[in-house]
Amino acid sequence: MIDKLKEQIDNKKISVEDVAKEYISKAKKLNPELNAYISITEDYALSHLSYSPQNKLSGIPGIIKDNINIKGLRTTAGSRILENYISPYSASVVLNLSDFTLVGKGNMDAFAFGSSTENSGYGVTHNPLDKTRVAGGSSGGVAAAIASGSALFGIGTDTGGSVRQPASFCGVVGLKPTYGLCSRYGLIAMGSSFDTPGVITRNVYDSAYVLNEIAKYDKKDSTSMKVAKQDYTKFRDIKDLRVGVLNFSEEGVDSDVIDAFSNSIKTIKSLGCKVKTIDLPHLKYSLAVYYILVPSEISANLARYDGIRFGNHPEKTEDNNFESLSDFYVEARSKFEDEVKRRIIIGTYTLSSGYYDAYFNKALKVRNIIKQEIKNAFLDVDVIISPTTPSVAFKIGKKIENPLSMYLSDIFTVSSNIAGIPAISIPNGYYNKLPTGLQIMGRSFGESTILSLANFIEQKLWK
Ligand code: GLN
Repeated sequence: MIDKLKEQIDNKKISVEDVAKEYISKAKKLNPELNAYISITEDYALSHLSYSPQNKLSGIPGIIKDNINIKGLRTTAGSRILENYISPYSASVVLNLSDFTLVGKGNMDAFAFGSSTENSGYGVTHNPLDKTRVAGGSSGGVAAAIASGSALFGIGTDTGGSVRQPASFCGVVGLKPTYGLCSRYGLIAMGSSFDTPGVITRNVYDSAYVLNEIAKYDKKDSTSMKVAKQDYTKFRDIKDLRVGVLNFSEEGVDSDVIDAFSNSIKTIKSLGCKVKTIDLPHLKYSLAVYYILVPSEISANLARYDGIRFGNHPEKTEDNNFESLSDFYVEARSKFEDEVKRRIIIGTYTLSSGYYDAYFNKALKVRNIIKQEIKNAFLDVDVIISPTTPSVAFKIGKKIENPLSMYLSDIFTVSSNIAGIPAISIPNGYYNKLPTGLQIMGRSFGESTILSLANFIEQKLWK
């Protein structure tokens, strides 16, 4: 899709201005019902149009999640505490998308904490395939925009599944690259040892196409890795690829999801891959490890939103003249959404001196065991597959009152963030018009293998 539009632009069949106007008008038309965008950046887009044939995304319409900074624009991270924050610089990942057209900034759970976009301070995003359902989260706005066609590619962030889960719920492709492949500089930090930018597109080819642009060493990110440049759109032969099928407990997993997964295994066999079941006994602790380590990192990362360094600065009023510094903090931080407060409280607890060893330290040790177990598994297989999510997109309101049931939506996605490995979600079936997703995890920097397998499955399933 992206390469076709690029060809039309290069051949002067359509101007970048007309492309921008067409996609922005679609975004404006759909936003009242979907709420995929926190800001639609029409003036910015039209005043920044530029075209250079050698830039692969020149004039291509994209949506950027609102926790990724773009100089001169508002970056809210989905939270009211940053309602008026204007970015003084752009994230490296955005600068790497040279000459793309920004349709707008994507709605998201506040600070990317959530799996449904219901934690956004700017209202929930509706799933374009069924507006009574969530689009997933936390990059729900980006996924909904791609699925409904108001942008051709989106950049989200993935700390525990936030690119893959909404992609799965909206029937599109979500790629979380290896930790260190794409720069985190300019992303609003959540769990810094887990966060990575990711790509949401309509198909696997486009995902590889965008990854080509954003996979780049960046000296401004201390965890960025120097990796040999490669063309991810050159898919490899996957015959004889060794595919590990994750042995998972079916408890809590919808039967539709299990059916779609079984069909995917058949498809993969028909492509000539060698399939075997693999056991990763410590993976059952992934969710617990994630929900200790990530809130711990959150509690440190969110300390900067104190109304002085970052976040709305509360003004004195007659009722409140801030007799102490803590009064001031309380007022400034009252803008945090409930889930943000919950994560800070959990993380402060797990890091507190009395509980540090029992929770934080122990979870770190289990993280290492999980990493090692996954690494060993890749001696035997080239990729590991599982469903992306235990259910199809759920109804708005169904899980919001029960954080634990919301956290369980991440059961299949968090492990790859724990281990830092790449993973992709592709649509693998539709039940009552709602998509299910297949997740393919690969070795560190094995993007080309997972994209190749994803591409052949996509061709076989949908063409
Ligand atoms: N749903 C997960 C969480 O709430 C993942 C979030 C993310 O990847 N940003 O932590």
